Order: sequence, then structure tokens, then C-alpha cells
Amino acid sequence: MAGNRWLRYHLPRLPFARRAVLRFMPGEDPEAALRAGRDFKKDGIGVVFTRLGENITRLDEADEVAEHYLGMIDRISAEGLDGEISVKLTQLGLDLDVDRTAAHVARLAAKANTFGKTVWIDMEGGAYTEKTIAVYERVKARNPNTGVCLQAYLRRTGDDVRRLLPLDPSIRLVKGAYAEPEAIAFQSKDDVDANFVALAISMLDAIGVGRKMRIALGTHDVALIAQIAKYVETLGLPKTAFEVQMLYGIRSDEQRRLAGEGFAVRDLVCYGAAWYPWYMRRLAERPANVLFALRQLLP
Ligand SMILES: Cc1cc2nc3c(=O)[nH]c(=O)nc-3n(C[C@H](O)[C@H](O)[C@H](O)COP(=O)(O)OP(=O)(O)OC[C@H]3O[C@@H](n4cnc5c(N)ncnc54)[C@H](O)[C@@H]3O)c2cc1C
Repeated sequence: MAGNRWLRYHLPRLPFARRAVLRFMPGEDPEAALRAGRDFKKDGIGVVFTRLGENITRLDEADEVAEHYLGMIDRISAEGLDGEISVKLTQLGLDLDVDRTAAHVARLAAKANTFGKTVWIDMEGGAYTEKTIAVYERVKARNPNTGVCLQAYLRRTGDDVRRLLPLDPSIRLVKGAYAEPEAIAFQSKDDVDANFVALAISMLDAIGVGRKMRIALGTHDVALIAQIAKYVETLGLPKTAFEVQMLYGIRSDEQRRLAGEGFAVRDLVCYGAAWYPWYMRRLAERPANVLFALRQLLP
């Protein structure tokens, strides 16, 4: 459904769908996102902001997205928020002009650097994995304050971690949100979870032997987080050797609990009108969310 063009146009116009999506985002405008950021600050939770949108078809759209994020970085900083941004490369023109896309990310990183902040790059579907990592390598060489998301369901990710380690990378490890074929991705939850833990351990081991890198675990799977936290203890590293990143509206109680226990926690807050494909991926992750959406049909 995430790729259906008819639904992509019509569903976001339906009031019940607009109500339902508020389960996962505080609102469409940046003000709502910044307000959420202020609330998280009270609980000692940082924020990553993302304006939803992907696969733009004209380069001027990419330029507008970059301009928007430049302004957003200023606003995050002016509000004194512990906030970063995360961008999708296909929203910055990856399908149209790779050089210009890399230049946009570099410009955002240079701006964020003036405030000591990081710019994250989301990882999209399998057709973009190699291109995204290549752009990250290019940008990272001149902009240390950049990070990239890697997906544990991909068979190649262990190699990608080894490839990036010499760059002292910032890596946000997630399980992966797209429907990928067996040839490139583990299909069972057990296999994905096992690879997630193995990848997290390999990155922590790198820190253990003195490698400088930032590790973010982008997951709501608190059992996996607990398992990895135990491993951190055995290495004699502090709890903050990794940070936890979760999505707005999902396991909020666990976000607060982990922050209260001294873990570094960030909430990824999405905003923007182009939420349809992203929202479909959130529904697909958990059937109970579909029931929640349907309940919004009731008066
Ligand atoms: C900060 C962050 C950034 C991300 N960035 C990317 C990215 O760039 N590229 C990408 O492919 N994916 C990204 N993802 C999505 C990720 O790949 C997973 O699809 C998503 O996090 C669900 O997997 P999980 O790790 O939470 O584990 P799961 O095993 O799916 O879930 C563990 C538990 O978390 C809860 N949960 C999980 N998802 C939901 C949900 N939608 N609604 C309600 N409860 C839920 C449930 O209680 C579930 O039992 C990101 C996720 C986060 C948290």
C-alpha cells in the first residue's frame, strides 16, 4: 500500500486518516514538532526532526527541502533544543542528481556544525543502499558531524559497518522498514534480531578497542536494548556508549524509563504533509495500529 499512487493522493485528505496519523506525529507543521521537542526536553530526551517526503521528481523541490532544513537547524538552536535532523536522500534529489544531493547534505552539515549538531541520513529501500552509503562516505570525509542509518535485515550490513569503521562513523542501526527480497535481506524476525545484536556488538567492540564512533540503536525492542546494555557492562563501558532512538508515539513510557535510568535517549519526531508512505510502513510494522486507524472512523 505504501507505493499505491491513488491511495497516496486520496487517503491523506480523509479526516479519519489525518486523525489516525497523529498517533505517530505531533502535527504537520514544524511548530508542532518543535513543541514536542520542548516537551521531550523536560524528560531529558533529545530529538531528531524529520520532514516527511521522499522520491521528489524536480530538483527545485530538493532545493526547497534543503532550504527548509537550514531554517529548521536555526530554529532548533534558537530554542535551545538538543535536536538534530535526519534527511532522506531521495527527498534531496538522489533520483535526479547525486552530486547536488551530496552538496545539499554537506551544506546542512556545515550549518549544523556551527551549532555542534549532527545531520543524520535515513536509509531507504534496497535500490538506494549502495548510493546512500557512497554519499555518506563523500560527505563524511569533510563533515565529521554526519551519521547514517544501516538496516540489520540486510545481509550486506556487516560488510558496510566494516567499510565505514575507518571513517569514525555515526551509525544508527535499525531493523529495516521496507519489504526486501530474500536474496538481499533476512526474512524472519529471529534472524533480523540476531543480526541486530551481532552488529551492535561489533560496533561496541570497535569502541572497546578505542575506535571513535557514535552508535544509535533505532529500535523499540526493549529486550534487545537490555541485552546490548548488558554487553556494554561486560566491556566496562558507560551506559551512554550507545544511545537509544525511538519514534514519536511509540513506547513513550519506555523512552522515559530509559532516560530516567541514565541511558541517552532521542525521539524521532516527524512532521510535514507527505506522511502517506511513511505512515503505511508504521501500520505494516504492527497490525494493532491498523485497528487503531480504523477506530478513528467511529464518531
Ligand atoms: C529512530 C528511528 C529511525 C529509523 N530510521 C529508519 C530508516 O532510516 N530506515 C529504515 O528502513 N527504517 C528506519 N526505522 C524503522 C525501523 O527499521 C523499524 O521498521 C521499526 O523501528 C520497527 O522495528 P523495531 O526495531 O521497533 O522492532 P520490532 O520487532 O518491529 O518491534 C519491537 C516492539 O516495538 C513496538 N513497535 C514497533 N513498531 C511499532 C509500531 N509501528 N507501532 C507500535 N508499536 C511498535 C512493539 O511493541 C513491538 O513488539 C527507524 C526507526 C527508528 C526508531
